[in-house]
Amino acid sequence: MRVLIVEDDPILQDSLIRAMRAAGYAVDHAGAGDLALGLLRGGGFDLVILDLGLPRMDGLQVLRQARADGCRAPVIILTARDGVEDRVKGLDLGADDYLTKPFSLAELEARARALLRRGQGGAPTVSCGTLVYDTVGRRASVGDEPLELSQRELSVLESLLFRLGKVVSKDQMIESLCGYGEEVSANAIEVYVHRLRKKLEPAGVSIRTLRGLGYLMDRM
Ligand code: CA
Repeated sequence: MRVLIVEDDPILQDSLIRAMRAAGYAVDHAGAGDLALGLLRGGGFDLVILDLGLPRMDGLQVLRQARADGCRAPVIILTARDGVEDRVKGLDLGADDYLTKPFSLAELEARARALLRRGQGGAPTVSCGTLVYDTVGRRASVGDEPLELSQRELSVLESLLFRLGKVVSKDQMIESLCGYGEEVSANAIEVYVHRLRKKLEPAGVSIRTLRGLGYLMDRM
């Protein structure tokens, strides 16, 4: 899966690139609208993450031109909190989804997965034991019962569930939890994992602690 990240803020661009690479995608990036359009004309992208405020050519212009050129790749636009108008315009121009800054990297990964899966005709859910997670609605349920989770617990759940059977380090978890500009301590992660472990026990899902390495989610 090849992803194009279009973002001019170097810090955000860097964290987006690292998050998508860690999630297993091949990543290309552009920091200006005209460069993005050049790459899109070359084709071959499965997903585009597109910031709207860009130098030389803004994201909406890039989107309009790319669609006019026949680019069919799903596009997630990144918008400012007060950018309602941009969001509407973006969706009208053929964006598939949007995220409002600041957003968590776990959420971006979840939306990306959902779009990529939709492109392949599959259902946007992930399951383990009797736990079912809806990656679009961000809702977890055990059997038919919805599972009550805080936003933080939800992000921790996503970071573990999307790497099912693999070790997720505390640092990776902190990274996917903070997203952009929020501080989360390693101690807080322990608390969220502890709570989540209790809530997931009835679903037959275990979260193992691997000392010095991180956590691993799997069936019991
Ligand atoms: Ca920008």
